[in-house]
Amino acid sequence: MGFSIRRGVTNLIRRGQRLAGNARCSVCMTYFKNALVKTIPACGHSYCKTCLQKTYTRAMNDPEGILPPRCCGQELTMAFAGDFLAGYIPKELEMPDSYGHTDFRRRYLEILAERTSDPIYCAHCKSLGKQVFIPPEEINEEEDSAVCSTCFQGTCTLCKRSNPHTTSNPCPVDSDESKQEIRYQRLSGRAGWRSCEGCGMMVSRDVGCAHVVCRCGQDVWLAF
Ligand SMILES: [Zn+2]
Ligand SMILES: [Zn+2]
Ligand SMILES: [Zn+2]
Ligand SMILES: [Zn+2]
Ligand SMILES: [Zn+2]
Repeated sequence: MGFSIRRGVTNLIRRGQRLAGNARCSVCMTYFKNALVKTIPACGHSYCKTCLQKTYTRAMNDPEGILPPRCCGQELTMAFAGDFLAGYIPKELEMPDSYGHTDFRRRYLEILAERTSDPIYCAHCKSLGKQVFIPPEEINEEEDSAVCSTCFQGTCTLCKRSNPHTTSNPCPVDSDESKQEIRYQRLSGRAGWRSCEGCGMMVSRDVGCAHVVCRCGQDVWLAF
């Protein structure tokens, strides 16, 4: 009796919060103004800034952590996180003694670049003497192209030169076999991804999950 009254009251409060333009963080269960949570369309889960930063921090502190972190299999990309990743580094994030800056987004990109075995850097920025890392989740796999968020120029992910390729600027990687090999090497070098011993397919580890069953049926154990 007391329980169902309490539930009724809780439901009323929830409805009131929704009407007031508030959304609840699925992690800490706190209500925030709509603009202060990010909701993933595919699973409907919402994250407040603190909880999204904590989710990132956990994956960044874990040397085997998959980056970007995921929710229900969906990548919580930087584009999704937006300004939630900006600002000071949370105190939970383990930092090397030599650390020299305090920007969370910048530190994320540094860790992501370190854990990506074949990182792509913007060719145009490189020609100007700047090293701008393009995160794997921002690469257009169908077009073998990566667009820089600093200068908005494209880089070919096969030859790592500026694109678009034209007849006067052709891609030196022209055989289908070499293309496949380069794509495979790059995908297998993504942070937190492993290849299945059964079939060679790339499998990724979800946060907090050490066991994945590949499409081919093979059990893949991903050590923490
Ligand atoms: Zn939260
Ligand atoms: Zn989810
Ligand atoms: Zn650039
Ligand atoms: Zn190329
Ligand atoms: Zn497999």
